[in-house]
Amino acid sequence: MISGIAWDKTTENELTQMGTAAAVATSAETHTPRRISILGATGSVGCSTLDLIGRDPERYDVVALTAHNNAEQLARVAVEHNAELAVLANPDGYEDLKSALAGTGTEAAAGPDALIEAVERSVDWTMAAITGCAGLQPTLKAVEQGTCVALANKECLVSAGDLFMKAVDRAGAQLLPVDSEHSAAYQAIDPGASTAIERILLTASGGPFRTWTAEKMASATLADALNHPTWSMGRKITIDSATLMNKGLELIEAFHLFPVEANQLDVVIHPQSILHCLVEYADGSVLAQMSSPDMRTPIAYSLAWPERMWAPTERLDLAKVGSLTFEAPDKDRFPALRLAQDAMMADNGTTTVLNAANEIAVEAFLEGRIEFARIAALVADTIDAALRDGIAKPETLADVFALDDLSRGLARSLLSDKS
Ligand code: NDP
Repeated sequence: MISGIAWDKTTENELTQMGTAAAVATSAETHTPRRISILGATGSVGCSTLDLIGRDPERYDVVALTAHNNAEQLARVAVEHNAELAVLANPDGYEDLKSALAGTGTEAAAGPDALIEAVERSVDWTMAAITGCAGLQPTLKAVEQGTCVALANKECLVSAGDLFMKAVDRAGAQLLPVDSEHSAAYQAIDPGASTAIERILLTASGGPFRTWTAEKMASATLADALNHPTWSMGRKITIDSATLMNKGLELIEAFHLFPVEANQLDVVIHPQSILHCLVEYADGSVLAQMSSPDMRTPIAYSLAWPERMWAPTERLDLAKVGSLTFEAPDKDRFPALRLAQDAMMADNGTTTVLNAANEIAVEAFLEGRIEFARIAALVADTIDAALRDGIAKPETLADVFALDDLSRGLARSLLSDKS
C-alpha cells in the first residue's frame, strides 16, 4: 500500500501526507486487476482512458461507465470493456440503454441517483471526466470513497475548490490531476522543496485565435472556434480554449491543487503545446514536463501512478519540432483570462459565478445564439450583476449549488435581454 501525498496550504505551505494507505493499491503489489470506474466514459477524456485500458485488459476490471445521453456509445464501450454497470445521468435514455445491453451481462441504470450509486461501488481508481459543474456531486462522491480519483473535471475546483479539497482531505483520497498542465506541475514539484516554489507557469497553446485581431475574432464562426491547433478535446473545453477561459479555469484549478498563492500563478503562451508547465524555484531552477500533445500521457500517468506505464503516444522528436516559442498572453484580446484571474484573486465566491456564467455562454455559442465575443462579455456582465446583488463565498455545498443556480439564472436573463 502506498500513501498519497498532497500539499496543504493551511499548514504554511508545508508538504503534508494527506492520502491514506487505503488510497491506492497498484496491481503490481496486489497481483489482482485494479477495479476502475469512468465518469464521462463517452467523452474525449473517457475514450482516451478506455483506449489505454483496452490495451492491457488483464490489469483492469471495469466497474462502472457513465454518460449523460449517449446510450448507444455507452452500451458499446460497456460491452467492449466488459463493464459491470453502465449508467446514463439522463433517465430518459434508460429504455434505449437497457435494450442495448440486454443479454450482455452489463447492468443498465439511469438517473442522478443511479449515477451516485455507481460511484459508490468499490473501486481502486475513478476517472472524473464529466464536463462542467454537473460533475461536482459525482466527483465528490468518488472522493468520499477515499480511494484514487483522477481529476479531469476542472469545473469542480473552479466552483467549489475549498470545499472540494477539504473533502479530499477528510476522506484521505488520493487526487491525481489529469489536465496536462497540472499533471506536469504535479510531476515537476519536488515534494521536499514545495515551500521553495516561487512561481508556477501554465502554458497555453493560444488556441485557434492566437494571431487573430479582436475585430476578426468578433465574427469567428463555430467551426473556426472548434478548430484547435494542437489538442483534440470535447466541444466545451475547445471553446474555452479559444476564449482562453480554459487557461483561467486552469489557474483556479492550480490554485486549489498546489502549494502556492494566487499571485504565484501565471500563464505563458506556447503554441507548440510541448512544454506543459514550468515550476520555478527560489534557486532559479525551473522544472518542466514535456510531451507530445496527447491526453493519453497525463491519463497514463494518473492510471499507473506511482509507477509509469507505456502509452501509445507519438514520441517527442525535438529536432523535428525545431523550436519551442513563448509569448505573453494578450488579456485585452482574451478578456476571459483576466476575468478568471480576477475571480481567483478575489476569493469571494466569484469563481462559482464565473464558471456557471461561462457554461451558459459557451452553450449559447455552441447553439449559435450568441457571437464569439459575447462569451466573455456575458461572463463579465453576470459577475457584475451578481456582485451588485451581493454574493458571499460558499461555505457549504448547498451554498455552491445555490450560487451556481443564481448565476445561471442571471446569465440566462442577460442573454435574453441582449441576444
Ligand atoms: P466531452 O464533452 O468530450 O465528454 C463529457 C462526458 O461527460 C461525456 O461522457 C458526457 O456524456 C458526460 N456528461 C456531459 N454532461 C453530463 C451531465 N450533465 N451529467 C453526467 N454526465 C455528463 O468532455 P471532455 O472529455 O473533453 O472533458 C471532460 C472534462 O475533462 C472537462 O471538465 C474538461 O475541462 C476536462 N479536460 C478535458 C481535456 C480533453 O482533452 N478533452 C483535457 C483536460 C481536461 P454524453 O456523451 O452522453 O454527453
